Parts: sequence; C-alpha cells; structure tokens
Amino acid sequence: MSETNNVNNFVAKIVEEDLASGKVDKVITRFPPEPNGYLHVGHAKSICLNFGLAEQFNGECNLRFDDTNPEKESQEYIDAIKEDVSWLGFKWAGDVRFSSDYFDTLFEYALELIKSGNAYVCSLKPEESEEYKGDFNRPGKNSPYRDRSVEENLDMFARMKAGEFKDGEHALRAKIDMASGNMNLRDPIMYRIRHVEHHQTGDKWCIYPIYDFTHGQSDALEKVTHSVCTLEFEDHRPLYDWYIDNLPVPAKPTQYEFGRLNLNYTVTSKRKLKKLVDENVVSGWDDPRMPTISGMRRRGFTPASIRNFCEMIGVSRGDGVVDIAMLEHALRSDLNTNAPRAMAVIKPLKVVITSMADDHYEEITAASHPDLDLGERKMPFTKEIFIDQDDFKEEYSKKFKKKFCPGKRIRLRNGYVLEATDFIKNDAGEIIQVNAIQVTTVLGEDPADEVKPKGVLHWVSASHGIEAELRVYSRLLNHEAPDRGGEDFMTHVNPDSLSVTTAIIEPSLAAAAPETVFQFEREGYYVADRRDHTAAKPVFNLTIGLREDKSLTQQ
Ligand code: ATP
Ligand code: MG
Repeated sequence: MSETNNVNNFVAKIVEEDLASGKVDKVITRFPPEPNGYLHVGHAKSICLNFGLAEQFNGECNLRFDDTNPEKESQEYIDAIKEDVSWLGFKWAGDVRFSSDYFDTLFEYALELIKSGNAYVCSLKPEESEEYKGDFNRPGKNSPYRDRSVEENLDMFARMKAGEFKDGEHALRAKIDMASGNMNLRDPIMYRIRHVEHHQTGDKWCIYPIYDFTHGQSDALEKVTHSVCTLEFEDHRPLYDWYIDNLPVPAKPTQYEFGRLNLNYTVTSKRKLKKLVDENVVSGWDDPRMPTISGMRRRGFTPASIRNFCEMIGVSRGDGVVDIAMLEHALRSDLNTNAPRAMAVIKPLKVVITSMADDHYEEITAASHPDLDLGERKMPFTKEIFIDQDDFKEEYSKKFKKKFCPGKRIRLRNGYVLEATDFIKNDAGEIIQVNAIQVTTVLGEDPADEVKPKGVLHWVSASHGIEAELRVYSRLLNHEAPDRGGEDFMTHVNPDSLSVTTAIIEPSLAAAAPETVFQFEREGYYVADRRDHTAAKPVFNLTIGLREDKSLTQQ
C-alpha cells in the first residue's frame, strides 16, 4: 500500500527526529499479539500505527506472536491474526516470528542473570509469594531463597528445565528490589514451571518465560528501534530496561506508550470477546456483530474504512473513549463512495402493470454506480413487479407525497414512470396488489419531466426476483459503557441483536461475490455473507443504514 498513515502522531514525530539525527538508520517496529484470541478493533489501531510507521518511513514492521502462555494459545488464533493483518493491507517483514523462536536464547539469558547474581530460584508457594510481595502501601519482604548461591540456582534451574518439579513448585525470579515503589520491580518472576505442550515448541519445554521477561528481549533480538505499546505497559518499562541493561542483547529498543482505543457500546478485550463466543451469544469470533476484525469484515467493513477510522482517531498518550459514530462515519463514507448500487425489496407488494402484455420481458441495463465505473447489470422488467409496502398509500397525503397512490405517478429506478390505478385488499384489509399503467416509454430521467412523477422507487421483477436471506443486526451490547460500570458486561447483551428476514433481490445480486457490499437503494448497505452466501441461496448481512440516524448500534 502506498498511502501513509498517522503522519501527525507523536510517535511518528519521534521516528522522524531519530532518523534525522542519525540515532537510527532504519525504523523497525513490530506488532506483537498474543495468539489467545482474535484481533479486535483496538488491535487495528496498534496495527495501523506500527505498520503505518514502517510504511511511512520506509522501514519494516514485524509480526511477532508473543506466545508465552501455551495453555491459552492456539494455531487457530495464529492463522486468524495473520489473515486479519493481511486483509487490512499490511505486509510484515520476512517470516512471521514467535517469541518461542527465542526460547533457547531466553534460557541462556536467564543463566546469565543467575551467574551475575541477578536472578534466583525461589521456592515460596504462590500464596506465600503474594504475601511477600507486599502492596502499594506496604513494601515487600525478601524471599528466604533470595540468597541462594549461584551454583545452587544453576542446579535448581537446570532441574526445573529437566522436569523434576511440579507446576508452581519453584520459579526463577529477578533480584531487583522488594521495596521498590514499582511493583513490577519487586523481584518479578522470569520463569515458571508449566507441564504443558506448546503449539510451536511441542514438549521441548516445561518451563516458560513470563511475558515481561520475553517481550523486551524479543524486541532487542529483532533490533526493533521503536517498541510501541499501550499505556498499561508504562510501569513495565523500567523492568524491560533493567533486563536489557543486564543482558548481552544485540540492540536496545526504546519503548513508547500510547492510549488504547476504547469504543462506547463495545468491549475490546479478547477475554470478554471469548466469553461471548464460548457462551454462544454470537455464532463465533467472526460473527458480524463482533468488534473483531474478522467480524467487522463479515459485517461489510472494508480495510480502507478501518484504516481511515484509525487515522481519524489519531494516536495520543490519552486514554479516552471514542464514539462508535466515528467508526460508522468512516464506514459509511467509504461505502457511499465505493459500493455498487443494487435493488432489493424487503417488504414486497405486487404491482401489476395492466397496460403491459402478459409475457412482456425486457432487460433494462443500469450502471452499478452513479459515478464510478463499476460496470453494469441487467434487470428483467416484467408485467408484475414488487415494490416496498411502505411505498404505496391508499390515499394521497402531503406527508406521503413521494409515495405511490391511486392516480399518482412514480418513476421506477432505472425504469419507466407508472401511474397507479387501483388496488386489491385481502380479507384482513391489507393491500396485496396494486394495479398500474405504464406512462412513459423512455428509460431514465425525463429532462422535460412532463409526467411529473412523485418520487423514485426501487423495485424488482416479481417473476425474476430471487429470494434472499437478510440478517439484520443491531447493537450487541446495549449499554454505552458495558464493561466500565459495576455490573458484568454480559448483563448488557441485547437479546434482539439479530433478526433474520427475507428480501426479493434483483437477479444479478445472486451472483455477487461473497464479501461484496452493495447499497440496496433506499434501504441500506448490505454485504454478501462471506461464509454462507451462494447463488442458489443468497445471504446478505446488514452492514449499516444509509443515514446517520440509522446507526449500526441502534436498538
Ligand atoms: P486484550 O486485552 O484484548 O487481550 P492485549 O493488549 O492483551 O489485548 P495483545 O495480543 O497483547 O492483546 O496485543 C497486541 C498489541 O495490540 C499490543 O501492543 C497491545 O498494546 C495492542 N492493543 C491491544 N488492545 C488495544 C487497544 N484497545 N487499543 C490499541 N492497541 C491495543
Ligand atoms: Mg492480554
């Protein structure tokens, strides 16, 4: 991709200065997800920032999985994350990397710290460790194992690695300062025992490095120049720097923190999103209601709309809440400019054109977009068509002056002008058929407009229209701050966030490629479902309504 992102954010300014001063020759960033869930819209912000910096300054961005918790991680998540980053339009430098690629080196680093007297094997039980750690108001106490000799530590650590101990029996800790005001520096754990298989290293290890002992060194090993992360890691920076300063690493990355993306009506935490999946509130991680990148993709978001959104919100050190209307705005403006137009009738009402021969068949050719060259499609026009029930009124009134009613005329979109003559009701008093006559024989807008149609209606041939399933979504969580109040966010799940209905679509839509988003004229933006749409059984998801008041999150 050639366009640049985040030109004006504070990290970009730092990078620019570092390049200008010669502090770095080439910027290297990384996006370091833990493969314990699918990526969400918050990650998109981090992806756009990290990959955006590399694009903007001709550098490189690595995709590295920080995979230090094998119990929670899986290949499914790795594959999904790779797909999402690629779909957003970014390319990582070289092969995908894993922190587990560095497990051997990290083990050597641990030995270095033991030998330099900077690490020790602690045999406190987890509950005791908690007690020794103290809290914000109370300094910690030194572990009774803190002064083990280097030899004993080396021996114990080797035995930990060899699998002689049970989970949690011992841990390797950095020897820093149990009285530090920064809890992260109170002799943090570096390695713990976990007898579990790892998705990358199999059963090679039964000790695994803690994230905090892994992240900074992985950055250093990759010679990352600007290690960009979210604000919650600010307090961890002194620890990362301590490790780097005490280890023979090949480079010293500098960490910069920015504010996470928080969106109202949305939870952006993999753990919480996993709960929605595990409890079958949604159909999966890529359910179109999910704020995951794959869910947004299935909902009809385009990569450009997400990237534009990330650019709009900017990057700062503040931690605010972004209004979901901004995300919708980015989506709608992209679709308004780029989505092909098509017609679908959601509440069909039959119109019989009585002036027409019974077997009349005509193919109307219409451009797929008013401004862009997106090709044309053919629409069969026949004696019987469907319009939307809401577009016909029994009687003319000022309020409904753009509607069809007896004695009044409307233009069919891309078609002719019709005049309604009368209608038929069923026993329940509902209008089930409108009769009309064709008034013009020239297609399209009539500049002279002598026939004065009241409005333009969308329509589909009754004999050639195809039935499609429509999945209509509204907000998944009906609280503005679902996880920032006292209650469990699950209590805010909207039970009516999905309704399934049908529509009669113009025949060309059945052949739509999955993931194509259309503007169904006068109805909204709909996307051919990525998984379920076929020509034989068309399925469309509501992406978003046409206007600002038709919110993605409206109830
Ligand atoms: P979660 O809490 O959802 O699990 P995480 O921060 O633990 O998120 P990681 O997989 O570790 O998830 O994140 C990879 C990168 O994405 C990190 O650098 C992290 O700071 C960033 N990131 C995660 N959530 C957000 C967010 N809401 N806004 C911006 N960046 C984010
Ligand atoms: Mg996490």
